[in-house]
Amino acid sequence: MLDRRRGTVRDLRRENRAAVLWWLYFSQPSSRQELSAATGLSPASVTNVVRELLDDGIVIEAGSVDSDGGRPRVMLEINPDHGYVIGVDIGETRVRVELFDLTMAERAKSDYPLNPREHDVDVVVERITSGLNAVLTDSGIEPAAILGVGIGVPGIIEQGPEVLVHGQTYDWDAVPLGRLLRAATDLPLHFENGAKTMGQAELWFGAGRGAKTAVVTLIGSGVGASLISGGTTYRGATSSAAEWGHTIIMAGGRKCRCGSMGCLEAYVGAEAILERYGRPAVGGDEESALAALIEAADTAPLAAAILEETADYLGAGIANLINLFNPERVVLGGWAGLLLGGRFLPAIRESARRHSLRHPFAATSLELGQLGSEAVALGAATLPVESFLNGAPFNGAHPNASPLSAAPR
Ligand SMILES: [Zn+2]
Repeated sequence: MLDRRRGTVRDLRRENRAAVLWWLYFSQPSSRQELSAATGLSPASVTNVVRELLDDGIVIEAGSVDSDGGRPRVMLEINPDHGYVIGVDIGETRVRVELFDLTMAERAKSDYPLNPREHDVDVVVERITSGLNAVLTDSGIEPAAILGVGIGVPGIIEQGPEVLVHGQTYDWDAVPLGRLLRAATDLPLHFENGAKTMGQAELWFGAGRGAKTAVVTLIGSGVGASLISGGTTYRGATSSAAEWGHTIIMAGGRKCRCGSMGCLEAYVGAEAILERYGRPAVGGDEESALAALIEAADTAPLAAAILEETADYLGAGIANLINLFNPERVVLGGWAGLLLGGRFLPAIRESARRHSLRHPFAATSLELGQLGSEAVALGAATLPVESFLNGAPFNGAHPNASPLSAAPR
């Protein structure tokens, strides 16, 4: 308690600063008056916080607007060049690395293919390292100007003293990914499950905007989800919450990559759909194969039947989410989710209706993701932004990085 009291003034300042930054980040440009009304802070407190943010180069003035007869109001916005963030998506078929400014405008990207059957840790680490170097070189941005790197990982992230990745479907068993990458870069690293980073991207910038309770699903070769509760990602006791793909849709059913049987992923994951169709992807190109299957549905009865069944399973899986979590919104995302949803959303919705309780179903909307399949990298890049908005220190100085190359203009 003593420590708490001692920290009060500084904590309050930090909280005020975070409140202003979070609001401004999503509602820019805003005037001081609007910031005061939105955050509940007094005009004097807002003035103090804004002065500090202007001095630090985090916020810049963006012109002024007339206010009914009074003095013009100065509009404020986040300085996009105060710092930069990098998002990494360790996907099933590629490693994507993208560099963004502080307002998430993309400045550089690189993409490295990955054999879906060969998720060797050393290969993945090497691809990430190459990608980091490539986006820094292409953008001409100094490492010291990078707030941090967010990494979306296909597995469960154990956030202990050392970050460990458990990727059961890739045979990643307690992989010390943080330590392995630390050998190659000094940049601050943040790790999160890929479905959760995609969920955060849709929550911040896409179909999840404004939702307090939502489930963002990621359907690719595998199947995952992100559970939004109270406006933030719900992680559970050991960060594995919302492993929706490995909930059972058919007791004793098809064998799943995780080793269990009858998992949702074993029916609606792209790999499983193509296997059920009897035509696994040639050369691992599941995206083209699934697109071809969907196109064939118009003329080939077998293709139509497989996809009808898939919509039914997927709807049942969504009904389970609706009955368990009572979300106001379910977002269908991931490359396969977008392909399936683009064509079969009404059938998926109808199946969800049939399989869920009337009351929670009536309170839920089912929507397509808005950010495309690159949302995992974008979402990963929001991890360092989140720390920054919450007040993580950043003055352009990482260990071994040259100071002041991040200098605000
Ligand atoms: Zn499974």
